Amino acid sequence: MKMKKYIYNFNEGTAEMKDLLGGKGANLAEMSNIGLPVPQGFTITTEACNMYYEKNHKLWDELIGEINIKIKELENKTNKTFDDKENPLLVSVRSGAKFSMPGMMDTILNLGLNDDTVDALAKNSNNERFAYDSYRRFIQMYGNVVMNIDKNKFDEIFDGFKVKTKVESDTELNAETLKDVVKEFKKLYKKETEKEFPENPKEQLLLAIEAVFKSWNTERAVIYRRIHNISDNLGTAVNVQSMVFGNMGDDCGTGVAFTRNPATGEKKLFGEFLINAQGEDVVAGIRTPLDIEILKDVMPEIYRQFAEIADLLENHYKDMQDIEFTIEKGKLFILQTRNGKRTVEAAVRIAVESVGEGKLNEEEALLRVDPSQIMHLLHPTFDKNILKNTKPIAKGLPASPGASSGRIYFSAAEAVIASKRGEQVILVRQETSPEDIEGMVEAKGILTSRGGMTSHAAVVARGMGKCCVAGCEAIKVNENLKHFIVDDKVFNEGDYISLNGSSGNVYEGVIPTLEPELSSQYITLMSWADKIRRLRVRANADTPKDAAKAVELGAEGIGLCRTEHMFFEEDRIAAVREMILSDNVEQRRAALKKILPMQKEDFIGIFKAMGPRPITIRLLDPPLHEFLPKDDESLKELANEMKIDFGKLKIRVEDLKEVNPMLGHRGCRLAISYPEIAEMQTRAIIEAAIYVKKEEGIDVKPEIMIPLVVKPKELTYIKDVVVKIADELIKESDIELKYLYGTMIEIPRACLVADDIAVEAEFFSFGTNDLTQMAYGLSRDDAGKVIEDYLNKKILQFDPFQSIDRKGVGRLMKLAVELGRKQRPDIKLGICGEHGGEPLSVEFCHGLGLDYVSCSPFRVPIARLAAAQAAINKKDLS
Ligand code: PEP
Ligand code: MG
Repeated sequence: MKMKKYIYNFNEGTAEMKDLLGGKGANLAEMSNIGLPVPQGFTITTEACNMYYEKNHKLWDELIGEINIKIKELENKTNKTFDDKENPLLVSVRSGAKFSMPGMMDTILNLGLNDDTVDALAKNSNNERFAYDSYRRFIQMYGNVVMNIDKNKFDEIFDGFKVKTKVESDTELNAETLKDVVKEFKKLYKKETEKEFPENPKEQLLLAIEAVFKSWNTERAVIYRRIHNISDNLGTAVNVQSMVFGNMGDDCGTGVAFTRNPATGEKKLFGEFLINAQGEDVVAGIRTPLDIEILKDVMPEIYRQFAEIADLLENHYKDMQDIEFTIEKGKLFILQTRNGKRTVEAAVRIAVESVGEGKLNEEEALLRVDPSQIMHLLHPTFDKNILKNTKPIAKGLPASPGASSGRIYFSAAEAVIASKRGEQVILVRQETSPEDIEGMVEAKGILTSRGGMTSHAAVVARGMGKCCVAGCEAIKVNENLKHFIVDDKVFNEGDYISLNGSSGNVYEGVIPTLEPELSSQYITLMSWADKIRRLRVRANADTPKDAAKAVELGAEGIGLCRTEHMFFEEDRIAAVREMILSDNVEQRRAALKKILPMQKEDFIGIFKAMGPRPITIRLLDPPLHEFLPKDDESLKELANEMKIDFGKLKIRVEDLKEVNPMLGHRGCRLAISYPEIAEMQTRAIIEAAIYVKKEEGIDVKPEIMIPLVVKPKELTYIKDVVVKIADELIKESDIELKYLYGTMIEIPRACLVADDIAVEAEFFSFGTNDLTQMAYGLSRDDAGKVIEDYLNKKILQFDPFQSIDRKGVGRLMKLAVELGRKQRPDIKLGICGEHGGEPLSVEFCHGLGLDYVSCSPFRVPIARLAAAQAAINKKDLS
């Protein structure tokens, strides 16, 4: 039987093999194949990682055998041998999953060094200091990553030597001192692990490979995957690659560069490098690197070669690349390339400009922008007039655009706590590391005093679309004392600052913000989306202001106007309460009469804002007690206001109380009990429509929607009320006005009998908030805790209140669509639950063949783009 292949040499793979080789491995293979200077190596597949977990976290014999063969091949190719006293093979061991997870998983460099090979390295490089520096880095990394020894313990020893020898920077430590550092590091290793540091490179390698497999499941990696919706089942590949050194002297260096600016999208090589340094120094933000432009002067030939390769890679992948390189003794090596992470501003600009450059077509460009990120473009920016007169307290690097103000916190944990308290938080750190991920998620903005544009903070913040100023050296951060100092002024935990991630400026206090200006590239991209999508996009809007915003953001109608939101307004709540507390129909009608003109005014405003676009108005939905005060004090006030007896009022309020109000007297049940409410609302809608049509000449298209229906008879009963009023009013008005009568589908029973319901309904709108709640039997108002536990315990992969549960809720929807269409082929179908603005749910709705999705105004652009992507991908999800 042929054994399964778990390892691929770089020249055996291609860029398409990301599932198996991970992103890094696939790209290393691709680069080797197109003849770029990539150090030799091989990739252990993601399948091997999954098998490792299946085999109870143990490397198995066949895999070890395959590793040995590949090492032999690598030795032959490089003319170097593991543990050789003259010409030792040294390798890096790096993780690389299908989707890049920057800084989340582990890397080990300089593997293969031991007490013998370090001398060979010293001799071959003619640089003893470099050899011992590499060795101490290796022990430190290995101790930390493989044996979980606290990094700080190594740092303490290292810093101790700096103090002892009275030097400031790492590079000033000489070879002799570094030898002592190595000795002390080994002692620490032994103390912490009760084992000697392994001198045998093969043993080092196997343990390192295991450590990378394990790093797939560290807490921070799991959190990162959750945030970015990456499946836990993919596993990571492991790349073993022969080392090249950027820290052998001044003819060496290392850097990271993007083929375009990842913050703005500008087409210009953008990156950083360090002379005489190892790659981790750039990425980890330990030393602040130099602009790549400077490389032009320092090493012009290397710069020329690099720029050429960068161009070639971008053309090859047809996307902006993020390239890591090392210069070893005047020779350029490419260590990695990947599609660069970018802000949404940059994503939009690059996608649109790439179409202009002939690199992409419109459909490809549309697929390049993550719809859920689009929202960040709509976020406010600082008021320029105020900025003009405000002096920044410091300036750092504009690492990720946006404007945010908040209170400063100096640890991820404090940031999380403060944010949960409801504060706007700015996380301030010397530099961030993957452990800070939760704090970064919660923060409104991130400020670091060290690190460059490719530091952890910068890369991760851009990925999250979050404002970040990095490498702001003027501020002196003391994380222990929870303050930073700038120009002798101390800013303590809890103080307010403002960050401009587009300029890098940091300000004291809170700066007011303004609506953003949308770029011409955004407008172009969205026009392509609108051309291509089949799904219409409407908004959930309850006021003329929201309606106008929705139209501005591209809404083609209102999919849900929740009339109850108007009832809470200060000038009408009294009348609403009077209506609710009425003892009989006459009293109720009298109260409703007071509400009618106000409700009509609301509709006039909304109709005017929406013009001829369709507008779905839902009749009153929530349980009535929601409109009443909760405590006795307020009830007494109300009794006074209404001039009724407190005791009587209290009894009436008690009467209205329900044990399970969400499953109680709400939705269409209200209109069945009190048809006069539906009468009043119909009157308000139709009178407003007639008025706007007459006065403004707008062809208003109201759609009257009945919530929480389970039986066709409910619809029939209310329809009699609605149609009678509406038709009378239209007849009297002498104008032609068309309206639709339809229902929400938000209870599982309604899905099951959708054919019968469609007899009475001209349209269905899926209320997936309630439908999810009832399909799961899980209260939407109390689900948070349960969902969190379920996510943590992997019982749920995602929150079904955020993204449609296709298997369960989705199946109910599908049934309703089929039954509804069978009964009434031209039935109009939409969705107005929160899911209508979530990309995966939009994709699902496209697959189901709905006519439109409806979501909150700010999510309209997300839905437009997601609908276009669904149309391009043409996935049949039904
Ligand atoms: C729904 O249930 O999905 C819906 C849109 O209605 P509401 O959120 O108002 O209950
Ligand atoms: Mg509902």
